[in-house]
Amino acid sequence: MRYTAYSDYQRLKYGEKTYKIPINIPAGCPNRDGTIGLGGCIFCGEKGTGFENLPDSWSVSRQLEENINYIGKKYHAKKFSAYFQNYTNTFLPLTDLSAFLAEAAAFPSVVELCISTRPDCLPSRYLDEIARIGAEHNKEICIELGLQTANYHTLAKINRGHSLAEFIDAVIRIKKLGFSCCAHVIVNLPWDEDEDMIETAKILSALKVDSIKLHALYIEKNTPMATLYLNRDIELISLEAYVKRVVTFLEYLDPSIAIQRLVGRAPAEDTLFCNWNTSWWKIRDLIEAELEENDTWQGKRFDYLGGIDYGK
Ligand code: SF4
Repeated sequence: MRYTAYSDYQRLKYGEKTYKIPINIPAGCPNRDGTIGLGGCIFCGEKGTGFENLPDSWSVSRQLEENINYIGKKYHAKKFSAYFQNYTNTFLPLTDLSAFLAEAAAFPSVVELCISTRPDCLPSRYLDEIARIGAEHNKEICIELGLQTANYHTLAKINRGHSLAEFIDAVIRIKKLGFSCCAHVIVNLPWDEDEDMIETAKILSALKVDSIKLHALYIEKNTPMATLYLNRDIELISLEAYVKRVVTFLEYLDPSIAIQRLVGRAPAEDTLFCNWNTSWWKIRDLIEAELEENDTWQGKRFDYLGGIDYGK
């Protein structure tokens, strides 16, 4: 394998493969309701970021039971990560979030709580409470942060409502508590070039995030990004260019960072454009083939940290 697969990383950490169980809670997002911004990130649709979720009216236990029963039987799985996936989970009042997390942490087969949020929505009292729940139930904690790109000009264009600094600050505070951290990156935002992804890989390596999810931009219907797309105000790079850009990103990335995804997926009925009408696993295969053909690998160009000793 020419990159560090997340399944191997988890197997090393937990002694066997773990499975992520998405949990949907009524979290909302401060970038959608006017707290930080209105309308949200310009690519984000009505359903937020979780497509595979059960209704948020179901209790955490019911969602876990339903999915653990199914996945446990299908894959003989025994260890699970409770993945609070949709919207900005730390935007909930702390007492509510705490109750939801504690309910998941009480499941014996749940080994990890994985909490998705925005980097600018992670105050210390929330982190401290998450740490308390993790310690009380002996569960690992992973915080998943959307960065999308290190290009702060692009972050402004996509209406993220935060810049690069908030992301850096959040990762430093997450790591201080001993949690692991996963960053989400969109490899082909229309205003970004290969250099932006190289810088993104370098910053994520310098921050020592633990894992990364790479996505290709999909154009979801009824979003500001869809309007830009329909008006031909943005151009998307080709699938071939995406594959090459992912390979370049991997070359600059610290090889100890696990790759959770090389490309994302979204339901065709919700999108105007998704993954060049190509299934995600074919794109994954193309990326792996490109690594092979070029005899390259994750970390090949990871030689830029730690300072240069000029020997003077
Ligand atoms: S922060 Fe996440 S949930 Fe909120 S608008 Fe952006 S992508 Fe959507």
